[in-house]
Amino acid sequence: MIPAPPPITGWTWPEEVGRAVLREVRAVPTEEACGLLVGVRREDGGVVVTSAVPAENVESPGRRRRRFLIDPLRLLEVEKSLRGGNEEVVGFYHSHPDGEPLPSEVDRTFMELWPNTLWVIAGITEGGELPQIRGWSLDPDPGEVNEVPVAPSESAPAARARPPHPGVPRGARRPHGAWTDIESPRGKKED
Ligand SMILES: [Zn+2]
Repeated sequence: MIPAPPPITGWTWPEEVGRAVLREVRAVPTEEACGLLVGVRREDGGVVVTSAVPAENVESPGRRRRRFLIDPLRLLEVEKSLRGGNEEVVGFYHSHPDGEPLPSEVDRTFMELWPNTLWVIAGITEGGELPQIRGWSLDPDPGEVNEVPVAPSESAPAARARPPHPGVPRGARRPHGAWTDIESPRGKKED
């Protein structure tokens, strides 16, 4: 079994990456926007996102308001393009068109499959004001979803990436192919 990456202690992204994600999210205000986060993991557990790669939400049109689905081939493609460099896929982003940027029950289920990975959620409130962005990660020990604080940008220099896992093809890390998202009724009541 391949060990999970170390827990994430903080995250940051350059302003232009944040702006690009907001643009993607606002372009589809009634559907969940989604994509991959590429960056580096610092030795202290900090994640520095260097770019966001939008992905098409391939869920059926009637379900995209509450769910997202990323084509697994898209992920493989991106991982392949990063081979040999010091960047990797460090997480995912998606939007909640109707609510808070809090992980839903289904988000949590999929976070269990991707422990210690950064999940950035953009919550769009009614009226489509500026989406609220928060980062989350599931620590498999003890199995808790924690909010990942945004690290001050000055403490986020380009870092040395971890050495690649010897002998493990990057694309082979995840046995499952795709993941989806749905808001839980409980989450809606918390609004
Ligand atoms: Zn979600």
